[in-house]
Parts: sequence; C-alpha cells; structure tokens
Amino acid sequence: MINSSLKTLSQMLAKKEVSSVELTQAFLNRINTFNPEINAYIALDQDRTLAQAKAADVRITAGNAEPLTGIPIAQKDIFCANGWKTTCGSKMLANFVAPYDAQVITKFDAAGAVNLGKTNMDEFAMGSSNETSYFGGVKNPWDFTRVPGGSSGGSAAAVAARLCAAASGTDTGGSIRQPASLCGLTGLKPTYGVVSRYGMIAFASSLDQAGPMAKSAEDCALMMNVMAGFDERDSTSLNREKEDYARDLNKPLQGLRVGLPKEFFAEGLDANVGKVIEAAIAEYKKLGAEIVEISLPNTGLSIPVYYVLAPAEASSNLSRYDGVRYGHRAAEYTDLMDMYCKSRAEGFGAEVKRRILIGTYVLSAGYYDAYYLKAQQIRRLIAQDFEEAFKHCDVIMGPAAPSTAFKAGEKVDDPVAMYLQDIYTISTNLAGLPGMSVPAGFSTGDDGKALPVGLQIIGNYFDEARMLNVAHQYQQVTDWHTRMPDLPTPQGTK
Ligand code: GLN
Repeated sequence: MINSSLKTLSQMLAKKEVSSVELTQAFLNRINTFNPEINAYIALDQDRTLAQAKAADVRITAGNAEPLTGIPIAQKDIFCANGWKTTCGSKMLANFVAPYDAQVITKFDAAGAVNLGKTNMDEFAMGSSNETSYFGGVKNPWDFTRVPGGSSGGSAAAVAARLCAAASGTDTGGSIRQPASLCGLTGLKPTYGVVSRYGMIAFASSLDQAGPMAKSAEDCALMMNVMAGFDERDSTSLNREKEDYARDLNKPLQGLRVGLPKEFFAEGLDANVGKVIEAAIAEYKKLGAEIVEISLPNTGLSIPVYYVLAPAEASSNLSRYDGVRYGHRAAEYTDLMDMYCKSRAEGFGAEVKRRILIGTYVLSAGYYDAYYLKAQQIRRLIAQDFEEAFKHCDVIMGPAAPSTAFKAGEKVDDPVAMYLQDIYTISTNLAGLPGMSVPAGFSTGDDGKALPVGLQIIGNYFDEARMLNVAHQYQQVTDWHTRMPDLPTPQGTK
C-alpha cells in the first residue's frame, strides 16, 4: 500500500478497500519508526492529521471525493499552514505557528488531502544538502551516510522512504529537482507563476516556485492538478485557464525532438552519471524521439548570476526578521540597534548570513550597476539561449545534478562546491522555465552502494503537460521510479 501510486490509492479509497484513517495511520506508523533516524519531518501533529483523515472518509462516503481526497501528503516547512509550526528550517522561526494557510495548503485542503506533517529543509531554502537546517540534516534513505540533496531534502527523503504518498517542494535554483535526483524521485518545478507563492516563505521572489515531489510523472500530474492555478493574492500568479496536467500522459513520443545541450555534458559531470543519462536518451530514441544537438552558451554564467540575484532578493525578503515584526528576539540587549543585531545574529545560520551580506553588497549604491544590473542583463541572455534552443527541439534533456548523493559533511566547508550542485537546474529558474527530474537508473560509487541518478527534462513555458507525458512514457518502459531503498530496521525495534 505504501508503495502504491496516487491513482491506485484513490481507487482503493473509493472502493473502501482502505479508509483514509487506516492509510494515514500506516504512514504515521512508518514515520514513527523511521523518522527519528531520517529526520525528514520536523513538525508532526498526529491528532490534527487524523482529524483530516476522518473528515476525508466522511467526504468519500458522501460521494464527493476528488482524486487526492484522503491521501496523506507531506508539506515542506516553507508553507504556512494554519495552526502548524512553520519554521522554514530556521531558528529565527523556531517558535512560529502560522496563523493562516499558504495557497498551496488551501488547495490541498480543498482537495481533501491529508497533511501528514511539515518536512525538514535547508534554512530559508538556502542549500543543496539540507545541512543548513537549524533542525539538523536529513539522511538519504538510499544510504544514511549521504545527504538527500536540498533544499527540499525532507520532502525528498519522505517520499523515497515511503513516509508519505507524495510531497510538496519548492525550487528557487534546483531545490525540487536536485533532491529528486539524489533520492530517486520524480519532481517538477513548474513555469514561474503557475503555482501561487502566497503564504510560501519568500527566499528569492523572482525565482521561487512550488511543485510536486512524487514517485512518478502520473502522480506529479495529479499533484499539479491540485497545486496550480491563478491566485489574486500573488501578484506574479498567472491568470490562465485551468489545465488537466494528466491529459497528455498517454500520447506516443514518435517524432519528439529532444535537444541535448552540449554544455550539460561537459567537464564537471560525473562519468557514471553521464553514462546513465546516455542510456536514458537511448531509451527515448527507441520510443521514437529524434535527438538534436543544441547549445545553451551562457550556462556557465548561471551560477554567478544566480548568486548575485538570489542573495539580493533574499537580503530584502529577510529584512522583516528583526525580532519586532517577525522572528526570534534576543533575550538581552542594550538598545534598539543592539536588539536588531543580536536577534539577527542569533536567529540566522551561517549560510543565510552569507547570502544577506552578499545581497546587501551587490545592491549597495556603488556596486548596483556592476553586479546587480549586470546580472539582470545576463539573466536575459540565459532566457534567450532557451528561446533559441526551443526553435529546434520540443524538450531539452540532460542530467539534473552533476553527481549522485554525496557524503554528509563533504561539502559543508566549501560553499562553491555546494553551489555547483545546481549547475544544470539554475538556468531554468533564471529563465522562468519548467524543469523536472525523473529517475533514470543508478550509479555505483567506490563503496559499492547503488545511488539514484535523475534525468532532467526541461520544457518550454507552460509545457508541463508535455513534459509529464515525456516522463510518463519513459516510466512505462522502465522501472527505475518503482525502486525503493531497503531501510535498515532501527535498533530497539523488531
Ligand atoms: N541550492 C540553491 C541555493 O542554495 C537553490 C536552493 C533552492 O532552490 N531553494 O540557493
């Protein structure tokens, strides 16, 4: 049951083969067994969760269930959820109980989904390993000595370990796709503006976008049907007609033009990861796809540009945590300025402080033109690279991350090495394009452990349904997405 697709679970619930309370309890039992070790969830409220499951059962009996009614979903702790502790992985918000729901939460509630709990994440979504979380790292279910990726590391580990049926994530520079790749999941970052950011704690507002993390493309489509849609409370939400993201899943891929950017297969890509991606491309050829060589010449500038723009926006977004309007307040201080300084010094972790410092610097009067403005101009060039590429292909493929899951602690002292984890994902955020990661196989490291590898599929604006089709067809002829890690039984349990 815990390994079933959302569609199967939905059918089982409809036929009363299982109740939502039973299904929810099954996941809660697994959470109680495995979460103390994996640390994927940082807030659980079993009474609240089971009350939602009971309400879902009533709704199913009443005959007005929707596809996700009664299904237990994990929510990244970046989404405000009324009455739930909402920390964004930070000491700054360690005691914050949200007084309202983010639009994503409202939508899952309206669909009758059950909120299983809030998942661990890098502090304010800044990181690629979940190691910047104030609440400690998350273990990769495929190998407990390794990281799950970040910043949606808790959501990724929860899906991989089957501690939920599916989860929400957010992606500012790769935070859905990179952890999906490292944990063997299917994750989708939609086109910017498709999912409302209302109530989603802001990191870099022009890049942040929420999306699903699930076991398959079909599951992602069902999640998108709930998450997407116009919201007048988000000024960048796009007012578009409602779509059924599952509508094209079964289309054949004959004649699909797949663009391979040469920059994604250059230096920096782990050789074994490269081989897995090549094998996936070969599979697509068998499915009738045509391969087109393309170039995204400004790929190399995406990381430097992102690390000017994202910190600039973060420095502004995070100014609200001053111990007065929001967040932790120092216990002792001499005057107002001292209170601000101490509260922020105590409340934020090192990576967040680094970003605030960089952001403040690049926005300062003397450096604005040289850094911020320049970065904005290059951002436009990066978007134009994609515009040109999509004249020659329907989707772009390549690796989602340059390596498989790395060891905990391996990159914590080397921010640039950590930043490079997003080399293949960041440019789509800068361009506002949708991207996904799909399990494509395993790479065996020196220690003999097989670790998941993700294939990235990038689509043109609003082409999510096609990307899900492209992923789904691959998942009909491969079974990588059904593989599940063998979890060691925790000590002290039978
Ligand atoms: N790893 C990137 C960063 O630290 C992206 C994070 C994200 O997408 N939220 O900024």
